[in-house]
Amino acid sequence: MIDLVIRGGRVLDPARDLDRVAHVLVDGGRVVDVLTSGDPPGARATIDATGLWVTPGLIDMHVHLREPGGEHKETIASGAAAAVAGGFTTVAAMANTSPVNDDPEITRWMIARAEEAGLARVLPIAAVTKGLAGETLTDFAALRAAGAVAFSDDGMPIMQARIMRSALEAGRRVGAAVIAHAEDRTLACGGVMHAGIVASRLGLPGIPAAAESDMVTRDCAFAAETGGHLHVAHISTASAVAAVRDARAAGARVSAEATPHHLTLDAEAVVCHGALAKMNPPLRTAADIAAVRTGLADGTLEVIASDHAPHHADEKALGMEGAPFGIVGLETTLALVHAGVLTVSTAIRALTVGPATTLGIAAGRLAAGSVADLTLIDPDLRWTVDPATFRSRSRNTPFAGMAMRGKALAVCLAGRVVDGDLDGRFTR
Ligand SMILES: [Zn+2]
Repeated sequence: MIDLVIRGGRVLDPARDLDRVAHVLVDGGRVVDVLTSGDPPGARATIDATGLWVTPGLIDMHVHLREPGGEHKETIASGAAAAVAGGFTTVAAMANTSPVNDDPEITRWMIARAEEAGLARVLPIAAVTKGLAGETLTDFAALRAAGAVAFSDDGMPIMQARIMRSALEAGRRVGAAVIAHAEDRTLACGGVMHAGIVASRLGLPGIPAAAESDMVTRDCAFAAETGGHLHVAHISTASAVAAVRDARAAGARVSAEATPHHLTLDAEAVVCHGALAKMNPPLRTAADIAAVRTGLADGTLEVIASDHAPHHADEKALGMEGAPFGIVGLETTLALVHAGVLTVSTAIRALTVGPATTLGIAAGRLAAGSVADLTLIDPDLRWTVDPATFRSRSRNTPFAGMAMRGKALAVCLAGRVVDGDLDGRFTR
């Protein structure tokens, strides 16, 4: 008898190009086999996965969980619950908390808080500079030893070229990526949306595409020079995608991620959704959306990440000029990217082995021996986004009321079935 058999699902393991109906066998918290023929052995528990997708546990490498310091927006526990509800078994949490995660004590505290919650795994990303001030590098070795999986001042661009170059060198020494929030503040200054015809029509200050692509070009050059790993967060412009493609072709260690909103919405969304469509980088043009989609399809971009950014309704009510940037995303990402926007294999790859490789973590795969973190997805389930039902403490999304197709029904964490919406499929 083994612990668990997940019977007859469509097993998708992009790390080894596996896409076929199979049984997944789990014992002792690990995948012991993926049987593509024959009958599975007896098990203490069974999930009938007929008609479902069985994937490696989804990974979101860019979330803001707001704890410590912003618990009215989100906590590590509520963020981990939102993650599991959205099908994610692992999330990486950005450092722009209060206090900032620039100290090993805070890194260790976050890990302990996540373990108490016992839901999705929460991997801290430490700050690149003290207090996100862009002046003094943090102690990369100590933070890495404390459990930081990458380094980022996300939310704040690193304006000083010398600091960014040193960060990539320090990242190389500890074997971790430096994640860039690429934005030239001297060009973006005061902008609240994409600089283009919609901003002109609305009379709002704009953020030009070059504010992103100039910084991506700069940082790609540093990655090439230093051998450090640059990961570009939330890429939004065709020119930045092209810069990443060129850098990779030239052999630099550069990776990048796209968000569901930059794959699906353009600047027109600001007209109907106002501040709920205010994010940084901003929603761009149809041509930019097409370039980001192409970048994912051709492998230039290896990762989809939500940039889950909870904010209180009162803050988002301040309008385009006063509201903070960002939207929640953990509970809508999967449905947004799977239906028609990308192929199934591209979407699942960018939510599993893509981020796992970028972070250098042992996850995102479904081979014998891997930790049994899995996601069970009903690809055809129709549902409507109702922010009132979110597990997240925040509701700031432009997708409220949108008809969706596809939903995670449950996840397994080291073989333990969590957040099951499996009805009669789960027997033990
Ligand atoms: Zn950012």
